[in-house]
Amino acid sequence: MCAAPLIERRVDRHECSAECGFVNYDNPTPVAAVVVEYEGNIVLAHNRSWRNTFYGLITGFVDHCEGAAECAVREVKEELDLDASAPTLIGVYPFERMNQVIIGYHLTATGTITLNEELDSFKLVSPKDCLVWPSGTGYALRDWLLPLGFEPQTIELS
Ligand SMILES: [Zn+2]
Repeated sequence: MCAAPLIERRVDRHECSAECGFVNYDNPTPVAAVVVEYEGNIVLAHNRSWRNTFYGLITGFVDHCEGAAECAVREVKEELDLDASAPTLIGVYPFERMNQVIIGYHLTATGTITLNEELDSFKLVSPKDCLVWPSGTGYALRDWLLPLGFEPQTIELS
């Protein structure tokens, strides 16, 4: 605010080194992550910008003045061109590496899948065959699968 450098007065909290009182809280960004159920399978998609071959949930940043559930439905329409039922909240998870809060939803979607420009491929995976990674979106998928009697195997990704 006053152009003085920031200093770390407490762990992970950077404040103005002068007198203006500015604190850079660096709050995490809310992201909706959606377990999309489509014809009995889960839609897992690959983002064009990902180097690796892993497939993930449909995700998106919650927009200004938008509810997270509303965001989930919008992202499913934008990224897959599917129409969705009302989303059910699965849980809320930290994703420290990206400084995000993952808000996990499940919904059932109908229509014909057409990927938008962010995605280059998708897979339809049976709930019994889903693998999860030990991080935000993986926890959301796991927590949706467990009450249905499916115990997904956890995979490590570099
Ligand atoms: Zn200052």
